[in-house]
Amino acid sequence: MNDSLGFYEVSTKEKAYFAVRLIVSVVLYALIATTIVAMATEGGSTEISKAAFLIPMLVVFLLLYIVRNGLFVGLIKSFSVKLSEKQLPEIYKIVSDCSYRLGIKRTPHVYLLQAGGSLNAFSKKFFNSNYVVIYSDLLEAYYQGDKDAVEFVIAHELGHIKRNHFLKELILAPSAIIPFLAPAYHRGCELTCDNIGKFFNPKGAINGLLMLAGGKLIYRELNLEAYINQEKTDASFWRWFAEKFLSHPNLYKRLLNVYDPTMVSKFKVSASSKPYKFEPTVEREQEIDTEPDYSRYMPK
Ligand SMILES: [Zn+2]
Repeated sequence: MNDSLGFYEVSTKEKAYFAVRLIVSVVLYALIATTIVAMATEGGSTEISKAAFLIPMLVVFLLLYIVRNGLFVGLIKSFSVKLSEKQLPEIYKIVSDCSYRLGIKRTPHVYLLQAGGSLNAFSKKFFNSNYVVIYSDLLEAYYQGDKDAVEFVIAHELGHIKRNHFLKELILAPSAIIPFLAPAYHRGCELTCDNIGKFFNPKGAINGLLMLAGGKLIYRELNLEAYINQEKTDASFWRWFAEKFLSHPNLYKRLLNVYDPTMVSKFKVSASSKPYKFEPTVEREQEIDTEPDYSRYMPK
């Protein structure tokens, strides 16, 4: 398989904001380096010692970064179930196959995290290891028949690894001083990873994003076109402004990015798997049918 640009589309926003962040970062790196050299060469022994003081500061920042990320990985390992050929092998196989097809050399470590009902997944890099963490509610959707949606989400997360987003973020860190620039770049990266997810499973791209919007059961009842149109029908200044702080684009924008009317017409989103019916449980029926008995609260 061809590398990167050959089989999926890199978002123009990712490319544009990457270029701006790179220029800003290079200028800031050059500025810092020139200041250190100037202090060391022109200021005599006192200034040299000031310049030397910057080195331990840099080491402290680096150590803090390592400890923060190491703790994060440690917590993932503490509270999650590690997937393998022996643990939920069907999910591990999706990660392993997608990784291979994306040209990721080593299959990332995959973990299942019980996150109290959240529907999400994320990826992480720490030194030479990559991690993909999938929330249990998302995997519940898989075992309820929504395989496409889950494959899309997994491929999206692998997309971040493939595109080296974590390493790039580290290099581009100085440019974060420009307000709203880093989130704008992140939103572009998300669109690229949606494109990667769509490459692996176009149907899952629609279902997966709708699922993130409406939940793993209700999403089947949503009207896709009406939700995408929310971009226009529900527009406001505050919504526009709020998005400037977000690392992810609004979900209807993400849907529009992967939306292909010709493809969508070939499958009904709500018919992706067996429809869910909100049937009341036996206890609930009894509760509805029976008049509440308040007599026990009355004085005898
Ligand atoms: Zn993402």
